[in-house]
Amino acid sequence: MSQIMTNFDPKNEFSDRMKTEQTYWFVFISNSLLLQHDEEGYSVPCTDVPPIPMKEWTPRQELPMLNGKPCVAYSLSTPPADMKGLETVGLRESWNVLPYEFYNAAGKAAELLYWDENTRYCGMCGAPMKRHTVISKRCTNCGKEVWPQVSPAIIVRIRKDDDILLVHAKNFRRSEMYGLVAGFVETGETLEECVVREVHEEVGLEITNIRYFGSQPWPYPCGVMIGFTADYVSGDLHLQEEELSNAKWFNRDHLPPIPDKMSIARRLIDDYVAEKASATKVKVKDEQ
Ligand SMILES: [Zn+2]
Repeated sequence: MSQIMTNFDPKNEFSDRMKTEQTYWFVFISNSLLLQHDEEGYSVPCTDVPPIPMKEWTPRQELPMLNGKPCVAYSLSTPPADMKGLETVGLRESWNVLPYEFYNAAGKAAELLYWDENTRYCGMCGAPMKRHTVISKRCTNCGKEVWPQVSPAIIVRIRKDDDILLVHAKNFRRSEMYGLVAGFVETGETLEECVVREVHEEVGLEITNIRYFGSQPWPYPCGVMIGFTADYVSGDLHLQEEELSNAKWFNRDHLPPIPDKMSIARRLIDDYVAEKASATKVKVKDEQ
């Protein structure tokens, strides 16, 4: 919370800085990220003035420093006529072309711009909200304060003997791809209760040995994915047909197309695949 400044005024804060310091500019145009593209590849524009001029009313957001340089995000509704060596890349796709810390900062930028756009008016009285700190706003009439909210979702790798359960969700972008059971945490439940409920609702199975695996910010638009592993106990596969079109047990030797490396789903599956590789190494060592 160290970046909080009281009486934050975006216009004054940025106007001085923009004249003097090299700044990383995270510019979004219709949810795509604007990147510099040259023979060395893609990068976040780093200049002393914004790569595309901002208007006084352009939505903008300060971010934590990166590599000792200030970072500013802003969004434009339409691309400029002259892109001057700049290109737009989807936020998800930017994972493939940017170092992780820049992809991560771009995700945070997208979440904060989304929050800014969705909290222009007070939910209590309808009056305009005014920026109070970098990450809070206050109602100009009743004083209600709001901060960015994160929606947690669980994702779970279920093990049965030497196989894992993979599912095809109807909203997957690739028709042949399989991933893991996942779902949003509901109010009033623990993460573990959510894992049990989602597995029961989506595939009709009972599970045990729920273990935390890791987590990942998921800025689509403002989530965090919390990964777990679990073991199968009982039940036959019964699909929740509104969400899933298929679910099967797969072995690491015969996996279908799986999610991209940028996702925690893939990290959970890769971790299962790596078990066999390390087991094989130990066996080879024992035999020598
Ligand atoms: Zn209000």
